[in-house]
Amino acid sequence: MRVLVFALGEDDAPRVVQFARQLGAVVDVVVAASHLSSGAARIAGVGRVLAPDRPCDGSAEAVAALLASLASEYDVVAAEANSLCGDALPRAAAQLGAPMVSHVVAIEDGALLHPVQAGRAIAATRVDPLFFCTVRGDAFAAAPLGSHPAPIVPVPAPPAGDTIRLVRAAARHTDSGLTQARAVVGLGRGAANPAFSARAAALAEALGAAVAGTRPAVDAGAVPESALVGQSGRSISPDLYIALGVSGAWQHFAGVRDAKTIVAINSDAHAPIFEWADYAWVADLEGALPELLAALKR
Ligand SMILES: Cc1cc2nc3c(=O)[nH]c(=O)nc-3n(C[C@H](O)[C@H](O)[C@H](O)COP(=O)(O)OP(=O)(O)OC[C@H]3O[C@@H](n4cnc5c(N)ncnc54)[C@H](O)[C@@H]3O)c2cc1C
Repeated sequence: MRVLVFALGEDDAPRVVQFARQLGAVVDVVVAASHLSSGAARIAGVGRVLAPDRPCDGSAEAVAALLASLASEYDVVAAEANSLCGDALPRAAAQLGAPMVSHVVAIEDGALLHPVQAGRAIAATRVDPLFFCTVRGDAFAAAPLGSHPAPIVPVPAPPAGDTIRLVRAAARHTDSGLTQARAVVGLGRGAANPAFSARAAALAEALGAAVAGTRPAVDAGAVPESALVGQSGRSISPDLYIALGVSGAWQHFAGVRDAKTIVAINSDAHAPIFEWADYAWVADLEGALPELLAALKR
């Protein structure tokens, strides 16, 4: 079994490689941009690193074109379940008429386990090669570093015209550090204005936490798309998740259900998030955020 792992940033490849190793596979990594090659080459179990001859665009269309151009040598093409890969891999699969499995959390007796119905149930799916899949980063430990770096092999990138934005997109994914963060501050629509998000950023800094967001917070520009958490974004499992102005829609909860402790601050005492929060504070963020920051300083 040959697996091609797509690495968008520095922190996603080791976990997807670990998934691929569990398939008992020969694993190659294709990086989105060549500056990621040497990091990918140091991961144990990687046979070759494929480096596009120019940075691949951060759009789903360009990533799909890159993966579709390489897939014929492989049985499986896998990437982390983030929003860009969640767009790109199904496109590549559709181009090749191959099956797609999303948000894989484990492998059991050769079947891929993945949540369905927004996380209410786990399905076991068996698919014949070639198939594409996205893998939840928080479900697999990072593969260790190997003793010898894998060879780096240049590959042609898809035709020019498809390539524009990748380096910035890759940097954003690398910066988020969401999958590994032990504490995460989550911004909802109620915290998405500039005054609240600046205080939320100060709170995150004081706690050494990463910042995530709901779909409305992403759409409002308060957090980048790469930090979207939930059914259409990333799944995270920090020790502490602090939800600010988040209503608690199931599609968001699907991405934070594995957090060990959830703290919610919301001005609406009937917000659904209070049904699953461990600590609930019914308060307006206008007063609650300065109070929390002052308490942390003390
Ligand atoms: C197919 C599908 C996939 C989706 N995928 C995702 C996903 O991956 N991630 C995701 O997040 N969403 C996703 N959604 C959207 C999801 O259904 C919700 O609409 C979204 O999560 C709600 O975000 P929110 O809690 O920020 O906003 P809202 O539901 O509008 O809640 C805002 C909250 O802020 C509180 N608030 C407002 N002002 C203040 C204040 N001053 N102080 C304190 N509290 C305040 C309000 O009381 C309210 O509870 C998806 C939807 C669909 C249909």
